[in-house]
Amino acid sequence: MALRQYYSNVVGEPGLFELHWEKSVLPAYGFIFHMNDGIAVFGTGMFRKDQQRLKANIQERLTTFMTQNPFARDALRKAQAISPVAGHPYRDDAELVKPYADNLMLVGDAAGTGHPMTGEGIGPAMVSAELAARYAVEALQKGDVSESGLAGYGLAFHKQFDSLHKISQLARNALTFPWVVDRTVRRCAKDPVFGAAMAGILAGMVSPGEMLKPGMALRLLAG
Ligand SMILES: Cc1cc2nc3c(=O)[nH]c(=O)nc-3n(C[C@H](O)[C@H](O)[C@H](O)COP(=O)(O)OP(=O)(O)OC[C@H]3O[C@@H](n4cnc5c(N)ncnc54)[C@H](O)[C@@H]3O)c2cc1C
Repeated sequence: MALRQYYSNVVGEPGLFELHWEKSVLPAYGFIFHMNDGIAVFGTGMFRKDQQRLKANIQERLTTFMTQNPFARDALRKAQAISPVAGHPYRDDAELVKPYADNLMLVGDAAGTGHPMTGEGIGPAMVSAELAARYAVEALQKGDVSESGLAGYGLAFHKQFDSLHKISQLARNALTFPWVVDRTVRRCAKDPVFGAAMAGILAGMVSPGEMLKPGMALRLLAG
């Protein structure tokens, strides 16, 4: 589930995109996207498994983020809410999903493709849609859109998402611990190779599995 609320008269640079990993919202992050004319959107998210595990109330977490995070509080000091808090549930359990049946293919949120570590859902939704389109064309050309005619999509889908999702869920659990976040952020500031790998993970371009490789683990532990 991700929640967000829009504000006007927000202090901040248009186009600035802020992600804050901090105690009030871990293992998720609080985000602030600054648009033009002092409009900005504040939000956070949390997967159901974490919500249950941590007995967390996501709306309370958003309020805590906006009132206690010093950057959010400062940005909001003269601001007025211009929308209600609103949200939408989405899934990250692609590895458990069968994304096809007779005359049916699932893509994106419907197929659980949201990134389990970052919560980003747009990129993976597009990746799954491209895969689905490729297999749909093939099935239509063969005149077979039955479950067995679409099974190739299921194989390609799981090849694309399963290992990324399993490793990302582990990485997300690690982010429950503030000291892991602190160390990771400090290493990003000091070590450009480590920082670039983390940026790639957050952009969905690099698997969090990179961090388990001995070289990267040593970089995390160094200094
Ligand atoms: C508050 C919030 C913030 C987010 N921020 C980010 C972000 O910064 N970056 C990011 O990558 N992801 C973000 N996400 C996740 C991202 O929005 C989704 O993962 C992404 O939109 C999934 O795309 P989709 O096409 O699978 O589903 P959707 O974008 O939900 O599209 C499904 C469409 O189907 C329509 N629909 C539903 N039922 C029917 C029906 N019966 N008939 C016809 N149409 C129907 C819906 O109206 C909708 O338009 C955020 C999500 C939320 C809730």
